[in-house]
Amino acid sequence: MEEKEMKRALKERASGEPEKYYPVGVLQEEGFVRKRCRVCGQHFWTRDPEREVCGEPECSGGYQFIGKEDNATEKMDFIEVWKRFSEMFDRMGYTPIKRYPTIARWNPTTEFTLASITDFQPYVVTGEVKPPANPLVVPQTCLRFNDVDNVGITGRHFTGFVMIGQHAFTPKDEYRQEDYFRDIYRWLTEGMGVKPEEIIFHEDAWAGGGNFGPSMEFFSRGLEIGNQVYMMYRREGEELKELNIKVLDMGMGQERPAWFTLGTETAYEAVFPPVVRKLKEITGLEGRSEVFSQFLPFSGLLNVDEIEDEEGMWRRVAGRMGVDVKLLKEEVAPRAAMYSVADHTRALLFALVDGGLPSNTGGGYNLRMIYRRAMDFIEAYGWDLDLGDVVQWHAEYLKPQYPEMLEGIDEVLEILEHERKKYYQMKEKTRRIIERLKGRRLTEEEMVELYDSHGITPQALLSSGVIERVPPDFFKRVAERHEGRGVSRVKTQKEVLYNLEGISPTEILYYDDYSLIEFKGRIVWMEGEVVALDRTAFYPTSGGQMHDKGWMDDVEVVEVFKQGSVVLHRLRGRLKKGVGEVVDCRIDWDRREQLAQHHTSTHIINGVARERFGNHIWQAGAEKTTEKARLDITHYESLSREDLEALERRANEVVEEAIPVESMLLPRDVAERRFGFRLYQGGAVPGEVLRVVKIGELDVEACGGTHLKNTSEAEIIKITGTKKIQDGVVRIEFVAGRRARELAQEEERVLSEVMGALGVGEVGETPSSAERLFKTWKRLRKLKGSAGALFR
Ligand SMILES: [Zn+2]
Ligand SMILES: [Zn+2]
Repeated sequence: MEEKEMKRALKERASGEPEKYYPVGVLQEEGFVRKRCRVCGQHFWTRDPEREVCGEPECSGGYQFIGKEDNATEKMDFIEVWKRFSEMFDRMGYTPIKRYPTIARWNPTTEFTLASITDFQPYVVTGEVKPPANPLVVPQTCLRFNDVDNVGITGRHFTGFVMIGQHAFTPKDEYRQEDYFRDIYRWLTEGMGVKPEEIIFHEDAWAGGGNFGPSMEFFSRGLEIGNQVYMMYRREGEELKELNIKVLDMGMGQERPAWFTLGTETAYEAVFPPVVRKLKEITGLEGRSEVFSQFLPFSGLLNVDEIEDEEGMWRRVAGRMGVDVKLLKEEVAPRAAMYSVADHTRALLFALVDGGLPSNTGGGYNLRMIYRRAMDFIEAYGWDLDLGDVVQWHAEYLKPQYPEMLEGIDEVLEILEHERKKYYQMKEKTRRIIERLKGRRLTEEEMVELYDSHGITPQALLSSGVIERVPPDFFKRVAERHEGRGVSRVKTQKEVLYNLEGISPTEILYYDDYSLIEFKGRIVWMEGEVVALDRTAFYPTSGGQMHDKGWMDDVEVVEVFKQGSVVLHRLRGRLKKGVGEVVDCRIDWDRREQLAQHHTSTHIINGVARERFGNHIWQAGAEKTTEKARLDITHYESLSREDLEALERRANEVVEEAIPVESMLLPRDVAERRFGFRLYQGGAVPGEVLRVVKIGELDVEACGGTHLKNTSEAEIIKITGTKKIQDGVVRIEFVAGRRARELAQEEERVLSEVMGALGVGEVGETPSSAERLFKTWKRLRKLKGSAGALFR
């Protein structure tokens, strides 16, 4: 069964027994009666005995709150909403917590934070990890790109938004559905001051990530304000199994109460008032447009997700309004563009301040897409507008709620400046490609492909006449192509090779002390030359670090790997002992030491790169062998020689400072609280307990590798090379410890050979001598070219 069908089945079951699934007691106490919508058949609750339709705008005649003064007794803009909501819920016993990052590094199922519940997936929801507070409320910044074509035009869509979450995670018997419902009802009636007779609750069901539950959506005057989900089930095959803990998941866009209580023309005026005000001034769209105002109640009909023929819909809307379709578009399009610029810049601010980076792949792709969409509008209308300025206005407005936005603004502006250069390079390239396409008609598929592989936007194609129209869902289609296409941040499970049923997890000895190289272990499983012990200090290949080698009772250990939580050793030959017997183990120290030097140096370089370049530096990949190490970092441009020298110098300072390398095992919630989400440099990691490796104030990561005890043991770090491996990812190659010394000796030897060949006596003369030689060679080659025939 599809998730959708299971959700429908749950909704039917719940509406068959509302007392069991919904907070019916409170509803009745407050004077609500249960009804069924005359139009759509939905069950809903209302205090108005005359009411026959549910709260959906389609059933109740569209938005009725726009331009009204009496929607609610309390009036609040965006910033005011969280202030009042958090104060009220604080008084009711909820703990307001800080938002999580917009980039969901802790969560293996999604790249961006999509909803407030994303914060607590997957481990808090299952009960494996404790929530940071309970119950709690959170103003969570979120990104969603599937509605990007609707932004601006419907007056209510956003790519970046804030979902206010009301959450509780409780054992079955402590679950208080009626109280949670009463609390949100108090917010609606007292916090916002909505008249009870104008609130409508819908009986619904919710499904997401394999979890299910009944839910109550709440509406007023045609606007959905939020949805309270009572998550109680998890899917098991075709059945719904009750969860160990019940989860309250109320989500309300912070945008909604602002828009509703103020009754502004579009949500944007209520959500970022100063930004819209300034944009209107600069774009000259200050005056009220009669046509646009008339259009807004119909704008919902243009939701490109739900319509096939966009042109036809424009004509029909124009017909119903009694205006010319050309005039309608002329009045609506620039306003939609202006609102899009306002939304996209805020979404970029949310992402970039949290370490996101526009690029050609994965989630970075969507960031680049909205940046370019905003730039295209500015170019098309010739507005004198700098996106950096708009981002700055947002940060200033958001300061009371998110001071970190303004604090991180310099780095955000720097990233945008690089993005601006790339945008204009792309435009130039586009111009050349379009030259070649003149006279052809492109299919929609080809348009998507051109955008995808060359970054050529449909606006550019349109203005050059290569296409006649832009598919209304163009950007949605592009975004879909890229969803989940990024580098997988979840470590792939090694293929299951052996039957290890009944074998307990191996006790790991290498976490505490990397210099422990001699130990005894009892054989718990054996198949030919592959052996599992009850405990081991042998490091299995994982986290980009190569495995150890060594000996088990004088038989060589050639490979070490993990299957599930059991460490397996592959030997060269068979042991003379069997299961139950104890073996003497010894690890090849030279190899172990070299790997630890390389691994700890990887953390050092990551730390110094973040010091130098900023918060957008994340580990995108790493590899540690005995020969060399490499670290891939997220960065918007190639590293210069100056960058490399500075990184190497600083890394060696860290070595000289002899900073202790601490490692500790911590419950996940404790580790996150203490160190933040920086921990997840290698991507999301499973488990309730994290092993944390910390180098002073420089770097802290969740990491299972073998590490030095002190940075001084790395001896020396030498960066050997760099290259851009993809847009937004730069590789740094380096060596440390013994390998670095060897390399230095090798270079010295090569240099003295070169000096000998050039006949120079001092190192300092070598470059100028080599240059002279090179120039001579070039002159000769030219000569050879002009007199080619003579030489052949
Ligand atoms: Zn209805
Ligand atoms: Zn590591």
